[in-house]
Amino acid sequence: MTTRTFANALFGFGRTALDLLYPRQCQMCGGTLRCVAFSFLCDDCFADAPRLEPPYCSICAMPFHGIIGPDFRCPNCGQIRLHFDRAMAVMRFQGVVRRAIHSLKYGHQGYWARVLQSWLLEGVDPLLNRSEADVVLPVPLHPVRERERGFNQAWFLADALARSWKIPAHRRVLTRVRQTETQTHLDREERMANLRGAFAVRRPAVVAGRRVLLMDDVLTTGSTASECARILREAGARSVLVLTLARG
Ligand SMILES: [Zn+2]
Ligand SMILES: [Zn+2]
Repeated sequence: MTTRTFANALFGFGRTALDLLYPRQCQMCGGTLRCVAFSFLCDDCFADAPRLEPPYCSICAMPFHGIIGPDFRCPNCGQIRLHFDRAMAVMRFQGVVRRAIHSLKYGHQGYWARVLQSWLLEGVDPLLNRSEADVVLPVPLHPVRERERGFNQAWFLADALARSWKIPAHRRVLTRVRQTETQTHLDREERMANLRGAFAVRRPAVVAGRRVLLMDDVLTTGSTASECARILREAGARSVLVLTLARG
């Protein structure tokens, strides 16, 4: 037994002994954790997290109640031009999913990234085929914002998907060149205006003629993804699909 495996065994034993005295708790429901995939989230909270179930809009993934007929007009995207081909999401931006994303982004609890990646990889296959994308790009943060936060959560998702699918992902090809004020209080027209000139493509050769999969954590109105898609198309992208972990 090497020193390291001995140390790990000792640590494992210590951890088990400690668990008996002080059981670890799920950070979401407070339940006791035993033999689970994550040391801070129970299997039930992981499994019961709200998935995005049909029916939803085939363009912007907005969910609806009831049955969508042939003359269905989506109130989110029926009146405007979105520059991406279609947007997809795995989860609803509610409950555990919303809290996990907030803990990662605003609580600086980087360990939630693994949970978000697991939800993504577990739910992505029915949404799109890996042969539909040539390259994965994250929706970028402004460099100042990214330095403050220490990471771009969209990159965690893009990287995990690209590794799993064995297609290239590029962190700094699509960049944010202008800081935008927070969008939460703006309506969609104001959001669109606010985003003009916010993004740029650094290496157009990476996207020219390619089918781009744009990755983000949450899609709300789709304005940000649409503006990114517009810039990517200007740089020659053949198509732009949007995949987010959650749909607001
Ligand atoms: Zn739980
Ligand atoms: Zn729609």
